[in-house]
Order: sequence, then C-alpha cells, then structure tokens
Amino acid sequence: MIPFLDLKDLNAQYRDELLAACTKVIDSGWYIQGSEVQQFEQEFAAYCGTKYCIGVANGLDALILTIRAWKELGRLKEGDEIIVPANTYIASILAITENGLIPVLVEPDSKSYNISVKNIKSAITTNTRAILPVHLYGQMSDMPAIMEIAERYNLLVLEDSAQAHGASILGKKAGNWGHASGFSFYPGKNLGALGDAGAITTNDEQLASTIRAIANYGSHKKYENIYPGVNSRLDELQAAFLRIKLRSLDEAIAQRRKVADSYLANLRKTSLVLPLDEHISALDYEGHVWHLFVIQCENRDALQSFLASRDVHTLIHYPVPPHKQSAYKEWNDLSYPITELIHNHVLSLPISPTMKTEDVLLVSQIIEMYDSI
Ligand SMILES: *Cc1c(COP(=O)(O)O)cnc(C)c1O
Repeated sequence: MIPFLDLKDLNAQYRDELLAACTKVIDSGWYIQGSEVQQFEQEFAAYCGTKYCIGVANGLDALILTIRAWKELGRLKEGDEIIVPANTYIASILAITENGLIPVLVEPDSKSYNISVKNIKSAITTNTRAILPVHLYGQMSDMPAIMEIAERYNLLVLEDSAQAHGASILGKKAGNWGHASGFSFYPGKNLGALGDAGAITTNDEQLASTIRAIANYGSHKKYENIYPGVNSRLDELQAAFLRIKLRSLDEAIAQRRKVADSYLANLRKTSLVLPLDEHISALDYEGHVWHLFVIQCENRDALQSFLASRDVHTLIHYPVPPHKQSAYKEWNDLSYPITELIHNHVLSLPISPTMKTEDVLLVSQIIEMYDSI
C-alpha cells in the first residue's frame, strides 16, 4: 500500500528527540507559555526572516486573530472587503466572515492555482481594505505584484502561509512579504506538530503585541483585560515538538522536492496537466516547497479509482469550493468557472519527505499505464 502521507513514518525519525522533549516539558512543571513557546517563536521568526512570531492554537486562529487585531487597532472594520482566492481551503474565508468582514472571491490563475493579480485589480472597490493571498499547495502567490497593488491602493496584506513554510520568492520567505502571515502546524502540514498548533509572523510590533493580548484573554498582564479576548495559545509540548522538526525543515523540503522532480520527469509524456510549467518556473522554481503534488486529469475520478485499485492512496484538494458549501448558501448560485474547473480536475499524488524512490516510480508507472489505455 502506498499511503497519501504516512505521518507515523514521518515522525518516527524524530521519535527519540520527541520523547526527550516530552520528558523535559513534563518535568519542567510549566505547560503554557513557557520557555519552549518563547524559543520556538524566536526560532520560527528567524527562519521566516521576520521580527515577530506569535504562537497560537491553530492556523485558522492565526488568520482570525490577525484580522481581529487590525479591527482593534482601527485598521479594519466590519463590512470592509477583503480580496481572497475563490479556490482556497475554506479556513481563509472563515477568518474573514468570522470577523464580520466581506470576502470578495476572485478567480485564481489556472496554471499556478494561486490568486490572479489581474483579477485582484478588477475586484478592488472603494470598500476594499485588504488582500488575503493563499500560497496554495506550497507555492507562493505573486507577492512582488501583490505588494505593489497593496501599496498603490493602501491595502493590508495577510498571507495564508499554512501550506508554504519555507517557500520563497527572490530569497524572501512566505510570512515575510505581507503585513502579517498566518501559519498552521496541523500534523499533515510541511512543518507539523503532533496536534493542533499555529502562528502569526509579522514585522509590525504593535500588531504583534495586540494579537498576543487578544489570544490570551485580551490581556498583557494577568487579570488586566484590555480587549474582550479569546484563549488561543500554542502549548509548551507542541512548541517543543515544533522546535525539533523546524531544525530539519529545509531537509524535509529538499526531500519533497526530490519526489516532485521525479514525478515531473516520469509523467512528462502523459496527458496529465503537471504543476510548474514554464510560466511558474519563471517566477521561482526553488521557492516551491511541494506541500502537495497536484495534477489535473480529464477524468480525475477514474484515475483516482484506478490508483486506489492498485493500492495507491490519493486525495483531492479540494472536492468542493467554498462558494458551493452549505456554510455559504448565499454564494451557491455564483459562478467561478476556473475555480470549479480546478475542483473537478485536480488530484493530489502521494508526497512526503520519507516517500521511497521506488514508490514514486511505481505511482508514476501506474499513471502511465492508466494514461495509455
Ligand atoms: C490548513 C490550512 C489552514 C488552517 O489551519 P488549521 O491549523 O487546520 O486551523 C488555513 N489555510 C490553509 C490554506 C490551510 O491549508
């Protein structure tokens, strides 16, 4: 069996270190907001190249809390519009509606799957206050162009970097392009905890301090509550685990890249639409961290069944776009043809830092076999 992602296998290489970290935290007697969280925040900020990192409970909270803090700081208010790609994972959009702001969905670029800069421009109205680009599948959105638009129209930029730890454009990492960035450390992400965890990176001291307070009951100082806050903290144990895995994140990315390179070479002659055509590589090849290896196929469901019948497990990211979900009934009749086309044709092949070379070859051979019949 070739699983989509074998988390047990992936974490096995860190087992001794994770157990030692666990013992250390247990014996410290300090389980919330202690030195592991503080050190992880410093190390992750340094990794991304930002001044600040604030650990929170999960990736969705990272996005929600950033928008919430901008509201508290008077930079956003309810009813403001935020431009967001229509084909993102629903979390990016939930973070906007949860705050009472209005998501303006725009179509992605059909090749990179990331938000189209041209479509951002045509979606700007007098109510637009922010852009929320999502670095989908591990590849960065066109941040140089997005930041230029943001500057011209005086908009805030919140990167959704949940799938792009370590990705970069022009040597500058995800999390360090926008005014703030949300990260998820959900176990399956490129930097994954052993439970839920998330973080925000930013270079804005005032924003960092406001998020920190809101996430901790609206309080900088115990029992002094300046905002009606929430409880969304990264805990010591997860921070200790993340510190261990952060040290080899670049190596894990390099291993993912090897798998991707192999798929790209093996599947070149098939009829599948592969990621990273010339258009994308021109932007930045090395910057892609291959959270997912997503192909497009005319008859996606048939290919998925064919692979499943040969014990290869694949997933679809994502089967239903946010505007077709029951959660957003008011949008169900809207039409986003590029987004819908993507959702109907994409298939994510197995990829992981620990995936064996022969398994990559086997998956490729099965796809070639499917493609030739
Ligand atoms: C995973 C993910 C999130 C949410 O992260 P959680 O930690 O699961 O809350 C947000 N946006 C994108 C694009 C994601 O892939």
